[in-house]
Amino acid sequence: MSKVTDIYGSMVFNEHTMQERLPSATYKQLMRTIKGGEPLDIDVANVVAHAMKEWAIEKGATHFTHWFQPLTGITSEKHDSFIDPTPDGRAIMTFSGKELIQGEPDASSFPSGGLRATFEARGYTAWDPTSYAFIKDEVLCIPTAFCSYTGEALDKKTPLLRSMKAIERQAKRVLALFGETGERVTTTLGAEQEYFLISEKDYEQRLDLMLTGRTLFGYSPCKGQELEEHYFGAIRPSVNEFMKELDDELWALGVSARTKHNEVAPAQHELAPIFAETNRGVDENLLTMEKMKLLASHYGLVCLQHEKPFEFINGSGKHNNWSISADGKNLFDPGENPMQNLRFLVFLTCVIEAVDEYQELLRMSAASAGNDHRLGANEAPPAIVSMFLGDELGAVVEALVDEHDYSSAERVSMDLGVDVLPNFIKDNTDRNRTSPFAFTGNKFEFRMPGSAQNLSDVNMVLNTAMAKSLKGFADAMEGKAGDEFEAAAIDYVKRTLRDHERIIFNGDGYAHEWEEEAARRGLANHRTTADALPCLVDQKSIELFAEFGVLTETEVRSRYEVKLEKYNKIMNIECRVMKRLVRRDYLPAINRYAAKLAHGITAIKEVLPDGDTSFMEEKLRRLVAGAAEINIQLEKLNDLHHASREVADQQERANMNAHEIVPVMDALRAAVDEMEIIVEREAWPVPTYNEILFYA
Ligand code: ADP
Ligand code: MG
Repeated sequence: MSKVTDIYGSMVFNEHTMQERLPSATYKQLMRTIKGGEPLDIDVANVVAHAMKEWAIEKGATHFTHWFQPLTGITSEKHDSFIDPTPDGRAIMTFSGKELIQGEPDASSFPSGGLRATFEARGYTAWDPTSYAFIKDEVLCIPTAFCSYTGEALDKKTPLLRSMKAIERQAKRVLALFGETGERVTTTLGAEQEYFLISEKDYEQRLDLMLTGRTLFGYSPCKGQELEEHYFGAIRPSVNEFMKELDDELWALGVSARTKHNEVAPAQHELAPIFAETNRGVDENLLTMEKMKLLASHYGLVCLQHEKPFEFINGSGKHNNWSISADGKNLFDPGENPMQNLRFLVFLTCVIEAVDEYQELLRMSAASAGNDHRLGANEAPPAIVSMFLGDELGAVVEALVDEHDYSSAERVSMDLGVDVLPNFIKDNTDRNRTSPFAFTGNKFEFRMPGSAQNLSDVNMVLNTAMAKSLKGFADAMEGKAGDEFEAAAIDYVKRTLRDHERIIFNGDGYAHEWEEEAARRGLANHRTTADALPCLVDQKSIELFAEFGVLTETEVRSRYEVKLEKYNKIMNIECRVMKRLVRRDYLPAINRYAAKLAHGITAIKEVLPDGDTSFMEEKLRRLVAGAAEINIQLEKLNDLHHASREVADQQERANMNAHEIVPVMDALRAAVDEMEIIVEREAWPVPTYNEILFYA
């Protein structure tokens, strides 16, 4: 076994390797590109490409790929080998600066939401030097952005990078007012990935899992998560082996996998990394998801990343821990002197304003067919966006809003924001797990996103909304300094907090009363993806993204189209799988068993004419009635499904899916599940929840 410190980052062309492998002038030039955003000229690119190739070949690589994130949200790659045949029949290995900087995948089959008609299919990929190249399965992977030739972003990474630039520019303006320079301001991301592991044998017998990622049928297991024994429980050996290999692979790729544990639901687990700059953090998360799926197969397991693989137990989320850092210093760390405290309060106020103003966009960014089964379903935060600040910070904000002095018994008192603030970092014991957006000491944890999601959209929205409120503050403070600035800043903080305090909620987010209270406060509550998506194309959203150069109106509209279509396609697939399974597996099984029972009754009566078979007859009646009910729901679903496919307008179709079709899918499922527990075990065509969740 090699040492972890030797493995760590060994497959990554990171700063250390660059410094070792590049001529010092090239290294410095590249650093100016990576850290300062300066353009990279082709001569430098040629030198970098050569060094990268030599390094990659030494590590066993034979191919390279531009690794990118089309609007599907997953990663794409097309492998090209380094070989270049020579006239005498041999081959040399080449890789040019041009190949490093730009690629041309045939992009016609990626969703573009009408941005790129298929006849002008050519899009190009462009190297993102801010995320390191790495070697995965003998392929040198170069993280890239993906654009059309007319310059529109066709991917998830480009807008994210743009949003990071936008927030950096505005945060620097604010820092300057505090006399702080801030060479480089960046947002950070720690993505906690939840997932399930089940046995391959069970998986292969469940077409619903294989085709949709979730079970469309299944009666609740005799035992769920109520004993609370799985959370942080001892990790079973096969899973432990899987986790070990996963750690090793991820560490080699420079992914700082840190925490692993069993989650609340049976067969559920979590992996949390050490946070990274957001764009790198997203890339790392995508690599993590990919490796999880791949490595599970080494242990006869399948990794499920759907938000709700199983009804009746918890689903999987992906908490998005978010902060802003200026030259490595966390801006949500309350400082030690009055000016730093004021700075903290200003940034906090701006987050509160951003989350309130753009609550619908945030909700939208976490919307997906899969996540509809979580949000608002008493396990994940509700579909209402609100913020949790904790007792202490909550009291500070309250004091500012109500203009009274803040003091706490054990701690220092605070005179309207410019004395010493309590030390929040040490004090995040009062964690509220029911809040969708929680301050957790020195960062914010956005808990709505689902486990299957690419976190680019979430962070793009968060960064852009935050850039907007930082800009508001910087504009208002223009030209002010010293005491005048201080007074104006405090005043601004108080006013803004007063305007947006409705978003703060420290109570139980799962309680029904909160829904009512939230409605009184005028907070949005979009329960389904169909309801959540339209706000993306509201004038307010279009203006926000345009103002900060994050997305043009065309790009916004294309993303809306892609999201809608994806939702409708998933619903269509789920409907088809449901119908197929009911017709070909479940109904025949129920009928066969009913017939067997009927024969049994007749046979028994022949032998024992006066034997009491009434309980068998009763069961037979239930089976026949159940099958009839299944048929009724199946026909309903069938009609609605066909009707939905006639609806050309994608939003209308989405509305129909969410509000008319889902209830019938639920009814059909319930009817089948009722039968599962009275049909004999042998006769049931698929593994049940009891078996899948508690596999050996
Ligand atoms: P939890 O109780 O939610 O598991 P942890 O303290 O374990 O909280 O942290 C969860 C995640 O938050 C980790 O991935 C961690 O790296 C990340 N995190 C910590 N600090 C920051 C930060 N400043 N910015 C972004 N993410 C952070
Ligand atoms: Mg967490």
